[in-house]
Amino acid sequence: MDKIDIEMLVRRHLQELGVGVGSSEKKEYIVAANWKMNMTEKETRKFLTELKSTEIPENIRVMIFPPYPYLYIMKEMLRYERIAYGAQDVAKEEQGAYTGEVSAGMLGDMGCPVTLVGHSERRSYYGDTPEITAKKAKAALEHQITPMLCIGETLEEREGRRYEGVLKSQLDAVYEALGNRMGECLIAYEPVWAIGTGVIPSLEQIHETHRYIYQVLRGYGVSEEDIRILYGGSVNAGNVKDIASVKYVDGFLIGGAGLKADSFKTIIRLASEVS
Ligand code: PEP
Repeated sequence: MDKIDIEMLVRRHLQELGVGVGSSEKKEYIVAANWKMNMTEKETRKFLTELKSTEIPENIRVMIFPPYPYLYIMKEMLRYERIAYGAQDVAKEEQGAYTGEVSAGMLGDMGCPVTLVGHSERRSYYGDTPEITAKKAKAALEHQITPMLCIGETLEEREGRRYEGVLKSQLDAVYEALGNRMGECLIAYEPVWAIGTGVIPSLEQIHETHRYIYQVLRGYGVSEEDIRILYGGSVNAGNVKDIASVKYVDGFLIGGAGLKADSFKTIIRLASEVS
């Protein structure tokens, strides 16, 4: 088989995500691992070697979000694979005196096709407001990088029945910045209270929240085919099949269970069996 450059392949995949596949038909899932500030170079290489030893099912799109220093290992080791890699964050500024930041231009330059923006840890520890998150999403798109926009409510907001308003304001800020490019974002719904806690919402709660997000996106004019809403928060091999079968769930953003190739591969296999 001809070897096609992976960046081209990945970009094409991202553009093609959803073509002819409505959320309600659920033909394929994105299974993404957010490594946060974990892993060493050796562990990264070992993980990728193990992951590459398995065939990725046709109906699954795999993505890995490693720490910045390992992006080049991803680029090198995933060159001919159907596995995408992405950054965990991106600067809102274009370039200049911003010590510690990495710009969208730099990520685009190395061929990085996707970046997380607005992860709850960025929002709560580093002051990423909805407006800052929106600027990051915009900067990414300007460099042909797909933003995976993370949104989610705290337990207090859930219990106070304020979660819809919270999610809407997180989405609104990005829509204000992106306008009709909103449909180019992937959305990851991650209830803050489910991240790293082992607690997940009920399937009914996941269903109604994803449906709500779907409706908000439709309200912006995003077409059904472009909507991709991933669920994140304590996903593991024991619950992935149940969550995958929920309508409006188009994939997963996985933290802890994405750090070991074995459990990540099991999740990929189980998700592929549902769609
Ligand atoms: C995350 O932080 O994006 C996440 C989903 O973490 P975990 O799967 O460990 O809850």
